[in-house]
Amino acid sequence: MIVVTGATGGLGALVVQSLLTRVPADQVVAVVRSPEKAAGLGVEVRAANYDDQASLERAFAGADKVLLVSGNEFGKRAAQHTNAINAAAKAGVGRLVYTSAPFADSGRMLLSEEHKATEEVLLASGLTYTILRNGWYHENYAQAITGAVESGVLATSAGDGRVSSAARADYAEAASVVLTTEGHDNKIYELSGDTAWSFAELADVVSRVSGKPVSYQVLTTEEQIAQLTSAGLPEPVAAVFADVDANIAKGGVLDHTPGVLRELIGHPTQPVADYVTDLLKK
Ligand code: NDP
Repeated sequence: MIVVTGATGGLGALVVQSLLTRVPADQVVAVVRSPEKAAGLGVEVRAANYDDQASLERAFAGADKVLLVSGNEFGKRAAQHTNAINAAAKAGVGRLVYTSAPFADSGRMLLSEEHKATEEVLLASGLTYTILRNGWYHENYAQAITGAVESGVLATSAGDGRVSSAARADYAEAASVVLTTEGHDNKIYELSGDTAWSFAELADVVSRVSGKPVSYQVLTTEEQIAQLTSAGLPEPVAAVFADVDANIAKGGVLDHTPGVLRELIGHPTQPVADYVTDLLKK
C-alpha cells in the first residue's frame, strides 16, 4: 500500500491522480490534515498532522511506501518532517520517499536549510529512502507572469541567471514512478526541467504569448526585498525569496539540466513556453 501525505496540496493531489493510472485505488491512501478537503481524491483518506507523531504513526499503518511531501510552514518543517520519519520507522514502512530541494546538502539556499536537516534525519533513521530533490515549479512564476502582462514589466533580482523549472505535474509523475517501480532504494535524484531559461527570455515568451510588450527589469537584492515587504511579506520571508534569486543569479543550483526527471517520467518535461500559454489561456 502506498501512502501520500500532503494529498490536498498542489503536488500531493497530482501524485494521487498519477498513482491511480498505475495501481488500483485500494492500494493508495491519502494522508491529509483536513479530511473535508479530500473528498474528491477517490482513495481512502486518513487524517494526520505533521505536528503530531502519533497521528502519523496511525496514518502510516500497513504502508509499504510513504511519500512525505515536505510541508509549507517555514521554520516548523524540520521538526514536522522528523515526526513523519520517526512515525514511518515505528510503523515499519518499507521505503520513505521525500520531496527535497535542489542540492539541499550544499547549504547554498536559505530555503533549503530545513530540507538539509530532514535529509540528515532520514539518512540516519535506518529507513530505506528515495530523496526527490525537486527543482523549481513553473507554477512558482504564475503571479509574476500574470502581473507582467498587466504591468508590462517582469522584475527580479536574478540578473542573467537561468532556471530549469518544470511543471508541478512532471514532478508528481516522477514521484508516482518512484513509488510504483523498483530500483530507487537509497537513491537521491536531482530533478529539473530539460531546459534552463533566463528571465529576459521569459519576458519575451510572455510578450509573444500575450501579445503585449513585456520588458525585463533587473532589481538589486535590496530593491527586491523592499518590493516584497511592501506587498505584505514579512521581512525574513522576503529575504528567503531574495536569496533564491541571488542563487539563480550566481548559477549552479537552480539551472542544472541533468535530464534525470525526463528519464524517470519517460518523456520531455513541459517547456516553460507551453506553461505560459496554458496559464494565459485561463
Ligand atoms: P502546497 O502548499 O500546495 O502543499 C503542501 C501540503 O502540505 C498541503 O497539502 C498541506 O496541507 C500539507 N501540510 C502543510 N502543513 C501540514 C501539517 N502540519 N500537517 C499535515 N499536512 C500539512 O505545496 P505543493 O504541493 O505545491 O508543494 C509541495 C511542497 O514542495 C511544499 O509544501 C513545499 O515544501 C515544496 N515546494 C516546492 C516548490 C518548488 O518549486 N520545488 C515550490 C513550492 C513549494 P493543506 O492542504 O491542509 O494545507
